[in-house]
Amino acid sequence: MAAGEGGRRLVPLAALIRREAKAERVDSPSVRYGSAAQSKKGEDFFLVRTDCLRVPGNLSTAYSVFAVFDGHNGNAAAIFTRENLLNHVLSAIPQGLGREEWLQALPRALVAGFVKTDKEFQSRGETSGTTVTFVIVDGWTITVASVGDSRCILDARDGVISLLTVDHRLEENVEERERVTKSGGEVGRLSIVGGAEIGPLRCWPGGLCLSRSIGDMDVGEFIVPVPYVKQVKISNAGGRLIIASDGIWDALPSEMAAMSCRGLPAELAPRQVVKEALRTRGLKDDTTCIVVDIVPPEHPVGPPSPPKKINKCNCFFRNRSRDSSSKLAKKLSAVGIVEELFEEGSAMLAERLGNDSSTSVHTTSGLFMCAICQVDLAPSEGISVHAGSFFSTSSKPWQGPFLCAACRNKKDAMEGKRPSGVKVL
Ligand SMILES: [Zn+2]
Repeated sequence: MAAGEGGRRLVPLAALIRREAKAERVDSPSVRYGSAAQSKKGEDFFLVRTDCLRVPGNLSTAYSVFAVFDGHNGNAAAIFTRENLLNHVLSAIPQGLGREEWLQALPRALVAGFVKTDKEFQSRGETSGTTVTFVIVDGWTITVASVGDSRCILDARDGVISLLTVDHRLEENVEERERVTKSGGEVGRLSIVGGAEIGPLRCWPGGLCLSRSIGDMDVGEFIVPVPYVKQVKISNAGGRLIIASDGIWDALPSEMAAMSCRGLPAELAPRQVVKEALRTRGLKDDTTCIVVDIVPPEHPVGPPSPPKKINKCNCFFRNRSRDSSSKLAKKLSAVGIVEELFEEGSAMLAERLGNDSSTSVHTTSGLFMCAICQVDLAPSEGISVHAGSFFSTSSKPWQGPFLCAACRNKKDAMEGKRPSGVKVL
């Protein structure tokens, strides 16, 4: 389910700037961050951008982006994604939106940006793949999109720790195992001589342990780049995000990672988390950590203080299922700590791109636009994302959003409707 469809109207730029300037509240939080990494294979990368503006030239529309990319089978996919993903996401957001509409448009733009980045990387014919955990912080609103098993956790100011991502690991995600199997993939362990099975569950062909990633041309296309997306609004008490690759999470449960750096400023906290992970497990894998503090304006330098008592029921350790994460968020919402604005993890593009009868799919020239790669389409070229879909019986096949032929082929391949391994670029 994509948020924010329908009812979008274009707003003149001058009116928008006036509105944004008015909305520049004195209670806007500031963002402080730090990062640390220990490399074993040279395949982890990260991105920090604190200078992004929703409206060019208007400093009151600033937002920040933080991301971790954990590459495998080489570093090309991770580097390509770091260079291109943000632009692809932004180009999928309609122009002229106010802040609230912009935030509502983000989940869908994230899906388009991830799929476009994957498609472009595959067209280069290079192997390798990458996880992505991509975090946009705008005021008190945090939007996280992820594929793979790098994670983002939220340590709210009162000490409640929650997971803002799910792990797309075949071993631990039964929904994803079922999806991959239904789409034509085989899930099993590596067999050694004598028939014994070893290691985690993997997908064949390819032998990848993840069910979602960007890149991975040499595995079936049911290993999809469609991200799990979650958007939350924290209270004006602030909070801390810890974004890290599995080098951290394989060594430390979420709570330990959060506790290990409490009381330290964001600039120093990631080093402490990495140190704690290495102390526990040694340097077995690339290990990357970004810590972001969302700080209320009255207390510009105060890191989260140690909580008096942690409520065990609300703590989130290594539970990887989507349902549990959803239940937890609802629980958090109920006590007013974190307001959940959006959550969706479906791998089906028809569900993620939604129905669109608004004008946002049209370019100014009156042409249609591909909802994934944003190329212009003549009316006869666009194929509705819902055409022939088993998943959205209520939608109309002539209704947008529309896809170009190449993106439609990619969608079919991801859903197992085209033989795996036949890549359409
Ligand atoms: Zn397209």
